[in-house]
Amino acid sequence: MPRALITGITGQDGSYLSEHLLANGYEVYGLIRGQNNPKRQHIERTWPDIKIVEGDLLDQASLMNVIQKVKPDEVYNLAAISFVALSWNQPELTGEITGLGALRLLEAIRLTTGASGSRANSAAGIKFYQASSSEMFGKVRETPQSEQTPFHPRSPYGVAKAYAHYITVNYRESYNIHACSGILFNHESPRRGPEFVTRKITIGAARIKLGLQKELLMGNLDTRRDWGFAGDYVKAMHLMMQADKADDYVIGTGEAHQGKEFARIAFERVGLNAEDYIKTDPQFMRPAEVDLLIADPTKARDELGWKPEVSFQRLIEMMVDHDLEAEARLQAAAV
Ligand code: NAP
Repeated sequence: MPRALITGITGQDGSYLSEHLLANGYEVYGLIRGQNNPKRQHIERTWPDIKIVEGDLLDQASLMNVIQKVKPDEVYNLAAISFVALSWNQPELTGEITGLGALRLLEAIRLTTGASGSRANSAAGIKFYQASSSEMFGKVRETPQSEQTPFHPRSPYGVAKAYAHYITVNYRESYNIHACSGILFNHESPRRGPEFVTRKITIGAARIKLGLQKELLMGNLDTRRDWGFAGDYVKAMHLMMQADKADDYVIGTGEAHQGKEFARIAFERVGLNAEDYIKTDPQFMRPAEVDLLIADPTKARDELGWKPEVSFQRLIEMMVDHDLEAEARLQAAAV
């Protein structure tokens, strides 16, 4: 039975990846940080087959203990400060977790598997996946973006992800670790954190429809993003780890849509016109914007046989329907 360790198990991708790996016969361990982490109970109740281990990407010794205890075949590093806006307010912490966290995990793998720094003492036994991001492309040098496109990150988050990406490549080349990096474009779902633009829109549309909210304050909705469904994207992570040779892959749909278009479809789903309810609020503007991200996922399609299955329209409908039901349930419980 293959054994996987997932950091970021309480996040959106952690939940979908766990489900995918459990369905494929894996023993799944999830790393949880902190004391009294309220999400621990949620994981234990929802996915009783996931085994919880404690550790923190800020704490090298805890990661070494976890690797020694679990002895995983595959490590998926999904943990991060992943909210771009927060990365401007807490840039140092973002660098520590999102950037250096990947290094600490790679070091834990290298040191516990006995690699001494030469390729001869390879740490090839444990495979490693790094959750890289299209935010590394930032002020894009070419469109669409592929594995060959140079990086120009525009936020502390993007900069930290670029470090984590390059250290993954470096450990692959230096120590022969099967370390791969998925450069994933935006992917969403009903499990997306409520602070992220897409989920803020779908929750807002649901609440306005139910009369719980009058308007929705948003930042820049002119930017264009390549949005896919998280459940499709975790399959690409798993496929990358099964390839004979570790490598980097761009994962996206190849379609870009404006934030405004996302909002229009979300509000239409509840029979409303987005323009009547959305107001721009400067507090939600980024100090430096990323205008257009669009993936060229040719390599993933040709080498991994991966392609997205859920369309942009269906993704939004799925999120709105979920939020409408959840908000109605909350409202009923409160009465
Ligand atoms: P998410 O929902 O924000 O989850 C982040 C996870 O990181 C949470 O489980 C969080 O745990 C954990 N974490 C944060 N700090 C930690 C620390 N110091 N030690 C251990 N765990 C820590 O993110 P996601 O959307 O699932 O994304 C997964 C990964 O893919 C992230 O690295 C993200 O940056 C990257 N990515 C996401 C997208 C996207 O569109 N979703 C696109 C490209 C790349 P707590 O619950 O304890 O806070």
